[in-house]
Amino acid sequence: MMRKSKRIITVFLTILIVTIIPYTAFATSGNETVQEIDTDKPMIALTFDDGPSQYYTSKILDVLEENNAKATFFVLGTEAEDNPNLLERMIESGYEIGNHTLNHQDLTSLTDEEICYQMNTTQQIIQNATGTTSQIMRAPYGYMDEDTSQQIDMPVILWSLDTLDWENRDAETVCNSILENVKDGDIVLMHDIYESTADAAEYIIPELIKRGYQLVTVSELSEYKGISLEDGTTYNNFY
Ligand code: ZN
Repeated sequence: MMRKSKRIITVFLTILIVTIIPYTAFATSGNETVQEIDTDKPMIALTFDDGPSQYYTSKILDVLEENNAKATFFVLGTEAEDNPNLLERMIESGYEIGNHTLNHQDLTSLTDEEICYQMNTTQQIIQNATGTTSQIMRAPYGYMDEDTSQQIDMPVILWSLDTLDWENRDAETVCNSILENVKDGDIVLMHDIYESTADAAEYIIPELIKRGYQLVTVSELSEYKGISLEDGTTYNNFY
């Protein structure tokens, strides 16, 4: 009797393992989510600025991972330095980190040396945390001029859909602004430092996927749309 139930348990365990292991291998490769992209279907890049923040960024990363979705985080050097674990997690999960300068000053008001310091210090902080550096940047407030562009030796990524989440601080307003305006090739601007934005992410990420949008990083979006990114050039969308 004992031996029989032991055999049943062994058979049951074998079936369980055989069923679960291939699924797990398919669902993730390391921590990185596997995403099958159909270039004929709409895709957008969600972007989160001014973080990372320990609590809200973690929450947004949880939602992205649960939904096999990708996003780009334009981090501030000062915040990145305090949260190297979050930067590491972003890279492990296949997300993109952009350089949003050291401490969010209007670059058009700075000297060439100050701009270099803002960019290079942040690159170093990202490098220390992840072993890689950013390939794209976003100017604070989106403020750029010709002189500033000449100091920036990477593509400048702005946005086409502004949720104004920093102003409205309301998850429903953020979600509606996306759902009412979103289109293929959009770059969506949000900030991963507000509770309302983390709440919005929880709803909007699965909802966008349900509506047929593929959520990719900025660099992936440009690549899938066949647009090569040039240093010092500003991009608002990838239509
Ligand atoms: Zn910002």
